[in-house]
Amino acid sequence: NLSQRLTTVAKFVPQGARVADIGSDHGYLPAALALQDQIEYAVAGEVVRGPYENAVSEIKKLDLARTIQARLADGLAAIKDSDRIDTITIAGMGGALITQILDAHPEKLAGVTRLILQPNVGEDRLRKWLMNHQFQIMAERMVAEDGHIYEVIVAEPSIVPFRYSKYELTFGPFLLEQHSPVFVKKWQSELQRQEDVLRQIKCASKPPVAKIKQEEEYINLIREVLN
Ligand code: SAM
Repeated sequence: NLSQRLTTVAKFVPQGARVADIGSDHGYLPAALALQDQIEYAVAGEVVRGPYENAVSEIKKLDLARTIQARLADGLAAIKDSDRIDTITIAGMGGALITQILDAHPEKLAGVTRLILQPNVGEDRLRKWLMNHQFQIMAERMVAEDGHIYEVIVAEPSIVPFRYSKYELTFGPFLLEQHSPVFVKKWQSELQRQEDVLRQIKCASKPPVAKIKQEEEYINLIREVLN
Protein backbone atom coordinates (compact mmCIF):
# COMPACT_ATOMS: atom_id res chain seq x y z
CA ASN A 1 0.00 0.00 0.00
CA LEU A 2 1.31 3.35 -1.12
CA SER A 3 1.83 6.18 1.39
CA GLN A 4 -0.53 9.17 1.23
CA ARG A 5 2.42 11.18 -0.04
CA LEU A 6 3.11 8.89 -3.00
CA THR A 7 -0.63 8.37 -3.59
CA THR A 8 -0.88 12.13 -4.10
CA VAL A 9 2.02 12.05 -6.58
CA ALA A 10 0.36 9.13 -8.38
CA LYS A 11 -2.93 11.02 -8.76
CA PHE A 12 -1.23 13.51 -11.06
CA VAL A 13 0.23 10.91 -13.41
CA PRO A 14 -1.86 11.04 -16.61
CA GLN A 15 -3.63 7.87 -17.75
CA GLY A 16 -1.40 6.00 -20.23
CA ALA A 17 1.71 7.99 -19.32
CA ARG A 18 5.29 6.91 -19.94
CA VAL A 19 6.94 7.70 -16.63
CA ALA A 20 10.46 8.05 -15.31
CA ASP A 21 10.52 7.83 -11.52
CA ILE A 22 13.92 9.15 -10.48
CA GLY A 23 15.20 8.05 -7.06
CA SER A 24 12.63 5.29 -7.08
CA ASP A 25 14.06 3.29 -4.16
CA HIS A 26 11.87 0.13 -4.01
CA GLY A 27 10.00 1.24 -7.10
CA TYR A 28 6.74 1.40 -5.13
CA LEU A 29 5.37 4.34 -7.10
CA PRO A 30 5.80 2.89 -10.62
CA ALA A 31 4.68 -0.52 -9.33
CA ALA A 32 1.42 0.92 -7.97
CA LEU A 33 0.86 2.84 -11.20
CA ALA A 34 1.40 -0.30 -13.28
CA LEU A 35 -0.84 -2.43 -11.06
CA GLN A 36 -3.71 0.02 -11.42
CA ASP A 37 -3.16 0.16 -15.21
CA GLN A 38 -2.50 3.85 -15.08
CA ILE A 39 0.69 3.84 -17.14
CA GLU A 40 1.94 2.40 -20.38
CA TYR A 41 5.57 2.18 -19.33
CA ALA A 42 7.96 3.26 -16.58
CA VAL A 43 11.63 3.56 -15.82
CA ALA A 44 12.59 3.26 -12.15
CA GLY A 45 15.91 5.13 -11.85
CA GLU A 46 18.22 4.68 -8.87
CA VAL A 47 21.78 5.83 -8.31
CA VAL A 48 22.48 3.55 -5.34
CA ARG A 49 22.88 -0.18 -5.87
CA GLY A 50 20.93 -1.38 -2.79
CA PRO A 51 17.71 0.49 -3.63
CA TYR A 52 18.15 -0.38 -7.31
CA GLU A 53 18.25 -4.06 -6.39
CA ASN A 54 15.17 -3.58 -4.22
CA ALA A 55 13.37 -2.16 -7.26
CA VAL A 56 14.52 -5.06 -9.44
CA SER A 57 13.16 -7.62 -6.98
CA GLU A 58 9.91 -5.71 -6.41
CA ILE A 59 9.28 -5.60 -10.19
CA LYS A 60 10.06 -9.31 -10.49
CA LYS A 61 7.91 -10.26 -7.50
CA LEU A 62 4.92 -8.40 -8.93
CA ASP A 63 5.58 -9.67 -12.46
CA LEU A 64 5.78 -6.14 -13.87
CA ALA A 65 8.94 -6.47 -15.96
CA ARG A 66 7.00 -5.88 -19.18
CA THR A 67 5.94 -2.44 -17.95
CA ILE A 68 8.76 -1.28 -15.66
CA GLN A 69 12.51 -1.17 -16.24
CA ALA A 70 14.79 -0.55 -13.27
CA ARG A 71 17.99 1.29 -14.18
CA LEU A 72 21.08 2.02 -12.12
CA ALA A 73 21.94 5.58 -13.14
CA ASP A 74 22.48 9.09 -11.83
CA GLY A 75 19.32 11.18 -12.17
CA LEU A 76 17.90 11.68 -15.65
CA ALA A 77 20.73 9.60 -17.18
CA ALA A 78 18.32 6.69 -16.51
CA ILE A 79 16.18 7.93 -19.42
CA LYS A 80 16.86 6.77 -23.00
CA ASP A 81 15.34 8.40 -26.10
CA SER A 82 13.64 5.11 -26.98
CA ASP A 83 11.71 5.22 -23.67
CA ARG A 84 9.66 8.16 -25.01
CA ILE A 85 9.15 9.39 -21.46
CA ASP A 86 6.48 12.10 -21.11
CA THR A 87 6.17 12.30 -17.31
CA ILE A 88 8.89 12.57 -14.69
CA THR A 89 8.30 11.99 -10.98
CA ILE A 90 10.91 12.85 -8.35
CA ALA A 91 9.82 12.40 -4.74
CA GLY A 92 11.27 12.26 -1.25
CA MET A 93 14.39 14.39 -1.74
CA GLY A 94 15.38 17.96 -0.98
CA GLY A 95 14.48 20.67 -3.46
CA ALA A 96 18.16 21.43 -4.05
CA LEU A 97 18.88 17.84 -5.09
CA ILE A 98 15.81 17.79 -7.33
CA THR A 99 16.97 20.94 -9.13
CA GLN A 100 20.47 19.45 -9.49
CA ILE A 101 18.98 16.36 -11.08
CA LEU A 102 16.85 18.44 -13.48
CA ASP A 103 19.82 20.69 -14.33
CA ALA A 104 22.27 17.91 -15.09
CA HIS A 105 20.60 16.66 -18.32
CA PRO A 106 18.45 19.38 -19.91
CA GLU A 107 18.18 17.35 -23.15
CA LYS A 108 16.23 14.64 -21.31
CA LEU A 109 13.44 17.12 -20.59
CA ALA A 110 12.73 17.80 -24.28
CA GLY A 111 9.74 15.46 -24.69
CA VAL A 112 8.47 15.79 -21.15
CA THR A 113 4.99 17.26 -20.76
CA ARG A 114 4.65 16.94 -17.00
CA LEU A 115 6.87 17.02 -13.92
CA ILE A 116 5.46 15.80 -10.61
CA LEU A 117 7.82 16.74 -7.81
CA GLN A 118 7.69 16.18 -4.09
CA PRO A 119 10.49 18.05 -2.35
CA ASN A 120 10.93 17.39 1.38
CA VAL A 121 12.48 20.83 1.91
CA GLY A 122 13.65 23.71 -0.32
CA GLU A 123 10.33 24.11 -2.16
CA ASP A 124 11.04 27.80 -2.89
CA ARG A 125 14.26 26.98 -4.67
CA LEU A 126 12.53 24.33 -6.76
CA ARG A 127 9.74 26.74 -7.77
CA LYS A 128 12.37 29.26 -8.82
CA TRP A 129 14.02 26.60 -10.99
CA LEU A 130 10.67 25.79 -12.59
CA MET A 131 10.01 29.46 -13.33
CA ASN A 132 13.48 29.98 -14.78
CA HIS A 133 13.04 26.95 -17.03
CA GLN A 134 9.53 27.81 -18.24
CA PHE A 135 7.76 25.04 -16.35
CA GLN A 136 4.50 26.47 -15.10
CA ILE A 137 2.94 25.10 -11.92
CA MET A 138 -0.45 23.57 -12.73
CA ALA A 139 -1.38 22.19 -9.32
CA GLU A 140 -0.04 21.86 -5.80
CA ARG A 141 -1.03 19.74 -2.82
CA MET A 142 -0.05 19.49 0.81
CA VAL A 143 -0.03 16.11 2.50
CA ALA A 144 0.29 15.61 6.25
CA GLU A 145 1.73 12.22 7.10
CA ASP A 146 3.87 10.81 9.92
CA GLY A 147 4.22 14.17 11.62
CA HIS A 148 5.52 15.88 8.50
CA ILE A 149 3.84 18.13 5.96
CA TYR A 150 4.86 17.38 2.38
CA GLU A 151 4.30 19.45 -0.75
CA VAL A 152 3.57 18.02 -4.19
CA ILE A 153 4.20 20.31 -7.16
CA VAL A 154 2.90 19.57 -10.65
CA ALA A 155 4.43 21.55 -13.52
CA GLU A 156 4.17 21.64 -17.30
CA PRO A 157 6.23 23.37 -19.98
CA SER A 158 4.79 26.75 -20.88
CA ILE A 159 5.20 28.67 -24.11
CA VAL A 160 3.84 31.82 -22.49
CA PRO A 161 6.34 33.71 -20.35
CA PHE A 162 5.34 34.08 -16.70
CA ARG A 163 6.86 35.16 -13.40
CA TYR A 164 6.12 34.23 -9.82
CA SER A 165 6.19 36.75 -6.98
CA LYS A 166 8.32 36.24 -3.89
CA TYR A 167 5.14 35.07 -2.11
CA GLU A 168 4.31 32.54 -4.80
CA LEU A 169 7.86 31.18 -4.82
CA THR A 170 7.95 30.82 -1.05
CA PHE A 171 4.45 29.53 -0.36
CA GLY A 172 3.36 28.12 -3.72
CA PRO A 173 0.90 29.91 -6.02
CA PHE A 174 -1.92 27.40 -5.44
CA LEU A 175 -1.18 26.64 -1.79
CA LEU A 176 -1.15 30.37 -1.04
CA GLU A 177 -4.51 30.77 -2.73
CA GLN A 178 -6.07 27.76 -0.97
CA HIS A 179 -4.76 28.81 2.46
CA SER A 180 -5.86 25.43 3.89
CA PRO A 181 -5.67 24.48 7.59
CA VAL A 182 -2.60 22.34 6.90
CA PHE A 183 -0.96 25.31 5.12
CA VAL A 184 -1.57 27.49 8.19
CA LYS A 185 -0.19 24.75 10.42
CA LYS A 186 2.98 24.36 8.37
CA TRP A 187 3.71 28.08 8.29
CA GLN A 188 2.85 28.67 11.94
CA SER A 189 5.43 26.09 12.96
CA GLU A 190 7.94 27.47 10.44
CA LEU A 191 7.36 30.95 11.91
CA GLN A 192 8.11 29.68 15.40
CA ARG A 193 11.23 27.94 14.19
CA GLN A 194 12.50 31.04 12.42
CA GLU A 195 11.77 33.23 15.44
CA ASP A 196 13.96 30.88 17.50
CA VAL A 197 16.69 31.11 14.88
CA LEU A 198 16.50 34.92 14.94
CA ARG A 199 16.65 35.01 18.75
CA GLN A 200 19.75 32.82 18.67
CA ILE A 201 21.66 34.77 16.05
CA LYS A 202 20.89 38.01 17.88
CA CYS A 203 22.57 36.52 20.97
CA ALA A 204 25.91 36.14 19.22
CA SER A 205 28.74 38.29 20.56
CA LYS A 206 28.94 39.97 17.12
CA PRO A 207 25.43 39.71 15.68
CA PRO A 208 25.63 39.24 11.86
CA VAL A 209 23.70 42.23 10.53
CA ALA A 210 23.00 40.93 7.03
CA LYS A 211 21.84 37.56 8.31
CA ILE A 212 19.53 39.21 10.85
CA LYS A 213 18.00 41.42 8.17
CA GLN A 214 17.42 38.43 5.89
CA GLU A 215 15.87 36.45 8.73
CA GLU A 216 13.59 39.35 9.68
CA GLU A 217 12.42 39.74 6.11
CA TYR A 218 11.57 36.05 5.91
CA ILE A 219 9.69 36.19 9.22
CA ASN A 220 7.72 39.23 8.09
CA LEU A 221 6.79 37.46 4.87
CA ILE A 222 5.37 34.53 6.84
CA ARG A 223 3.54 36.85 9.26
CA GLU A 224 1.95 38.72 6.38
CA VAL A 225 0.68 35.56 4.79
CA LEU A 226 -0.69 34.16 8.05
CA ASN A 227 -2.55 37.36 8.88
N1 SAM B 1 11.04 8.28 -4.37
C1 SAM B 1 10.88 7.41 -3.22
C2 SAM B 1 9.86 7.98 -2.29
O1 SAM B 1 9.50 9.14 -2.46
O2 SAM B 1 9.45 7.28 -1.36
C3 SAM B 1 12.20 7.23 -2.52
C4 SAM B 1 12.74 8.42 -1.80
S1 SAM B 1 14.33 8.11 -1.12
C5 SAM B 1 14.26 9.05 0.34
C6 SAM B 1 15.42 8.96 -2.19
C7 SAM B 1 16.05 8.03 -3.18
O3 SAM B 1 16.68 8.80 -4.20
C8 SAM B 1 17.13 7.15 -2.56
O4 SAM B 1 16.83 5.82 -2.84
C9 SAM B 1 18.40 7.62 -3.27
O5 SAM B 1 19.31 6.57 -3.49
C10 SAM B 1 17.88 8.18 -4.57
N2 SAM B 1 18.70 9.18 -5.23
C11 SAM B 1 19.38 10.21 -4.66
N3 SAM B 1 20.03 10.92 -5.59
C12 SAM B 1 19.78 10.33 -6.78
C13 SAM B 1 20.19 10.58 -8.12
N4 SAM B 1 21.02 11.58 -8.42
N5 SAM B 1 19.74 9.77 -9.09
C14 SAM B 1 18.92 8.74 -8.80
N6 SAM B 1 18.50 8.46 -7.56
C15 SAM B 1 18.93 9.23 -6.55
